[in-house]
Amino acid sequence: MNAIGLVILASLILEFGLRILSEVLNLRSSQAELPETFKGCYDEGRYQRSQEYLGARTRFGWCSASTFLAVTIALWLGGGFGFLDDRLRSWYLHPILTGMLYIGTLALLRVALTLPFGVYATFVIEKRFGFNTTGWKTFVADRIKTALLAVFLMGPLLAMILGIFEYINRFSWLYCWVGVSAFIFCINFIAPRWILPLFNTYSPLPKDDLCSAILSYARSIGFPLENVFVMDGSRRSTKSNAFFTGFGRNRRAVLFDTLVAAHTLPELIAILAHEMAHYKKHHVLWSLAAGILHTGFLLFLLSICVSSRPLFEAFFMKQTSVYGGMVILAVLSLPLDLLVGCLLNALSRRHEREADRFAVATTGGGRVLADALKKLSVHNLANLTPHPLYVLLNYSHPPLLERIQAIEKLDSIIRASGSAPPGSGNSCFQRT
Ligand SMILES: [Zn+2]
Repeated sequence: MNAIGLVILASLILEFGLRILSEVLNLRSSQAELPETFKGCYDEGRYQRSQEYLGARTRFGWCSASTFLAVTIALWLGGGFGFLDDRLRSWYLHPILTGMLYIGTLALLRVALTLPFGVYATFVIEKRFGFNTTGWKTFVADRIKTALLAVFLMGPLLAMILGIFEYINRFSWLYCWVGVSAFIFCINFIAPRWILPLFNTYSPLPKDDLCSAILSYARSIGFPLENVFVMDGSRRSTKSNAFFTGFGRNRRAVLFDTLVAAHTLPELIAILAHEMAHYKKHHVLWSLAAGILHTGFLLFLLSICVSSRPLFEAFFMKQTSVYGGMVILAVLSLPLDLLVGCLLNALSRRHEREADRFAVATTGGGRVLADALKKLSVHNLANLTPHPLYVLLNYSHPPLLERIQAIEKLDSIIRASGSAPPGSGNSCFQRT
């Protein structure tokens, strides 16, 4: 193996070591004592259960990540990437078809590797902690639909990238960037209407008190909203959530049925106020722009990879190719994504804080939002005391304790300033 190969191998192992270290520190930062802010929300048993859940998921993550790394390195050092390339080239197919078969074979291998872990996570871990409601039929149907979407959506995209790099010599990565960006926009536009309903049922929220309260809040902040849907999240898990999706006419607010069942009307408004803030403050556009910039960066790196002989030699491949460059980039991305992920997560945490502040200011106070977050954390067995290194590497949201303390601080400022909001539930479990 040449020097470049050794550097890549060392960075793969370093990245893996750093992730494991962050997870060990994260487990150790679990505190036996319930944080003061959550007193009255958790009972002793439930808090203990949240720590067991963290332990079970972390140990499971070690098994799956080490298996994935071991297979990747074995395939690499065993000459698997070059062997597959030689076999496919011996069929003398069109280069684009060869590339699609090459990437498709490796993608299938990845699916075969991750499937048993998916089964274990769903039917053993999530079930043990009372979250799983996914039946085998839904699980298998999900996998089939995902595979079909990958073939019919990602297949043509892959062919486009292979074709552009094959036939356009100068600035091919720039043409690809334009094409991939257009693809991302289209998928974001059509997903609410055509893709998401393949997996879940979205029912328009009945025209009741909740619906009119949501629409009236949206009007009060000048947010055009027509579509509020309830999603049957309970089909797969008892965990709850809410999100916005799509653009323009296709924009939808979505509440999990599990969320509607567990929260009070003011809490649901506070949660949606936070979600609407992501649009009002242009976070959705910022995230999309960051994603598109990241894609451009990767395509630029790909343009370097595809013509770098030393890189192909490091991966024991005799001839350069676009698809070979893609696989090399995928391996390189493992350590690179650590850095990029840190930056994207930091941007996301900043947006989350801003959305919380917006929700507190526009709903007239923070107590309801704080109560809703506490209730969510109890329900989802969230880790209340993550380690800062783990947060830096993995958290797209600030830790719950930090969020709730910031919200409560803002709430007390609003109350002290005299613009006191209408009364709200002080107990985590009060229903109105
Ligand atoms: Zn958010």
